[in-house]
Amino acid sequence: MDSLRFLTTEDLDQIRMDFGTPSFVYDEATLRANAQAVKEFPHAFGLFARYAMKAAPTAAILRIFNSEGLGIDASSVHEVERAVRSGFGTESISLSSQELSDDFRYWLQDGVKVNLCSLHQIHKFAKWGKREPVGLRFNPGMGSGGTNRTNVGGPASSFGIWKGDLEEAKSLCKNYGLEVERIHTHIGSGSDPEVWKKVANMSLDLVRAFPSVKTLNLGGGYKVARMENEVATDLKEIGQPVKELFQQFAEETGRELKLEIEPGTFLLAHACSLVTSIQDITSTGQEGYRFLKLDGGMTEILRPSLYGAQHPIVVVPEAGQERFREKMDQVVVGHCCESGDLLTPSPGEPEALAPRNLPRGEVGDFCVIESVGAYCSSMSAKNYNSFPEAAEILKKQDGIIAVIRKRQTFEQMVENEVVP
Ligand SMILES: *Cc1c(COP(=O)(O)O)cnc(C)c1O
Repeated sequence: MDSLRFLTTEDLDQIRMDFGTPSFVYDEATLRANAQAVKEFPHAFGLFARYAMKAAPTAAILRIFNSEGLGIDASSVHEVERAVRSGFGTESISLSSQELSDDFRYWLQDGVKVNLCSLHQIHKFAKWGKREPVGLRFNPGMGSGGTNRTNVGGPASSFGIWKGDLEEAKSLCKNYGLEVERIHTHIGSGSDPEVWKKVANMSLDLVRAFPSVKTLNLGGGYKVARMENEVATDLKEIGQPVKELFQQFAEETGRELKLEIEPGTFLLAHACSLVTSIQDITSTGQEGYRFLKLDGGMTEILRPSLYGAQHPIVVVPEAGQERFREKMDQVVVGHCCESGDLLTPSPGEPEALAPRNLPRGEVGDFCVIESVGAYCSSMSAKNYNSFPEAAEILKKQDGIIAVIRKRQTFEQMVENEVVP
């Protein structure tokens, strides 16, 4: 993958001039096309798609998905607040959180929905004395994440009520008089239709245990192919067997379940590019490597350092420089004083260097990291080495390039500091 995904070389020149680097650039056309694909997910008795906003929570992105008719999956009470402030109606927001904050009580009475994610959360909710119907998130006992760290189902995962605690969850809800209207499972990043079928089946078994349930939420985890050798999820392909299972379930039980899905990665991953500049080059000799040092790095994108995740990297000589460069193996690193600040790790092995065959980079060139829309800007090691948070920019459908989050100022970085 040597070519830019949606940016042009003219865009790069304009971005550097108007906003500087590093900058995240989102593409409105891709965001809208992805939303459309999600809305076409096969279903038997109705579908509601939510955007898992932790992937990228900037207001301008939320507004685009709001206008596409998506709802919100929030993972903290703070995300609920961000979604509301960006214009989402409370009734279109659902919370599935590792931490059920006391503040959430107030959102509940405004109509925000909740999936209780542990036995403790059931107790806590009941003690609030609330009577709103709830969802329960279960860990069905299996997952399909790409790595252990992206796997969010199975015995090594803390997300949701463990399947073995089903009876206890049931009797707690009964004793507290809680109405369970939704079952939720979210088991990680997978593209295999067989896995989705299996999880849908396991989830339908959970629905059987709760006669009041009207909705099954299968979460997100639709994997995208950032690199050529990765397998993308075909939503139609994984959705069709799930739809058939819902139909069978209705024939058996007379219950016509609504389907909810809540993708993050699928909606965002390919819709953003990180534009950086090569600001230095080091070579460690014959036995070593040629290192391209960017003006961004783990302060913008942590996934390679965390998971050994692979992202396409495109070197683009700046205007006026020779455009042709021979290819060679090079290691791409970030600007932090941290050896883990590495953009070209071995796949799945964040500690190992894997030189990438790229056009020879020179100081001043652009280096664009592609497919960084999901869990990059929102999950970075912001302000490490006191680098300011990068700007976020939107390439709008009418071609206009506009800032949607300004670069952090020095004052903003230190404004909460107090010297007693
Ligand atoms: C993170 C998350 C998602 C989205 O996962 P992706 O892999 O980005 O699609 C969906 N639902 C819940 C509960 C999540 O925590």
